[in-house]
Amino acid sequence: MGGSGMSEAERSIEFLKHIRDEVSYLTAYDIPINTAISALEKQIPKQIIGIEANLQNRYCPSCNEWMIFEKVGKVKYCPMCGQALKWEVVE
Ligand SMILES: [Zn+2]
Repeated sequence: MGGSGMSEAERSIEFLKHIRDEVSYLTAYDIPINTAISALEKQIPKQIIGIEANLQNRYCPSCNEWMIFEKVGKVKYCPMCGQALKWEVVE
């Protein structure tokens, strides 16, 4: 891995953004590059919203999907949008 602590997904996003800037005159590249960036961003775990609150109020940080009680702390990905989730307890 690189020295910056970035994941492969993060480094790939940086690379694709650079490519997008370089080929900005090729408008046909916009959609596939942006689609790839969106897909990679979903692979980078984001902290679930509301971890410090009570169990009934946990939401996906990307689409605000409510995590039903049985899924709390168990799902690694949002079932609605595919966002990778982090369940770190915030003290
Ligand atoms: Zn979601």
